[in-house]
Amino acid sequence: MRLLVVEDEPKVAEALRDVLVGEQYDVLVAGTGDEGFFRATRERFDAIVLDIMLPHRDGLDVLTSLRARGDITPVLILTARDTVDDRVLGLDSGADDYLVKPFAFTELVARVRALLRRGRNAAEMQHLRVADLDIDVRTRRVMRESVPLDLTTREFELLEYLVRHQGQPVSRDMLARDVWREPHRTTLDNVIDVHIARLRKKVDAEFDAKLIHTVRGVGFMCRESAS
Ligand code: CA
Repeated sequence: MRLLVVEDEPKVAEALRDVLVGEQYDVLVAGTGDEGFFRATRERFDAIVLDIMLPHRDGLDVLTSLRARGDITPVLILTARDTVDDRVLGLDSGADDYLVKPFAFTELVARVRALLRRGRNAAEMQHLRVADLDIDVRTRRVMRESVPLDLTTREFELLEYLVRHQGQPVSRDMLARDVWREPHRTTLDNVIDVHIARLRKKVDAEFDAKLIHTVRGVGFMCRESAS
């Protein structure tokens, strides 16, 4: 489990890192709101611990920007000011939970654990993965080895379907019915094959490990290639 901690006070940041690393989490610390936002948009984290009071760009601004981008990473905000307004503002901005400073580390660890549990279910619905391919269903962003792939709407739907059925053979009948929503498959065979070819070009051509395979007599299968 990978955590991003955004905290500008070095002593607090260090203490947070120590306690979370002690819980076997992989922790990255960002010392400013800008750096926190930069990291959060370029790397994947299972949860973010975000201090509200940061110089220049504060935690609420970072949080609002992340949510505006469709980022659903669970966020625990840390606030020094125990006022209702501050907490409500944090939760309104898309925070999942908050802690008021000063807090006990055992409390922080318990909150982070709960956040990760809740986040996992949501994330499983929103993120699909096969090998080094990552699909964010909500934002429709597809990455392979951190390279964004530019897919059309139909190509995206086709890939999503294949990945959701990874390891299982997918027939042209299934694709016609579920992706094209057309029961008359025979008229679609060419169209399906053309789309598969285009998808392969974008998903597999540049990479050694192929993900979209032909299953002779059946159709296609998405899986990590054995070789
Ligand atoms: Ca601070």
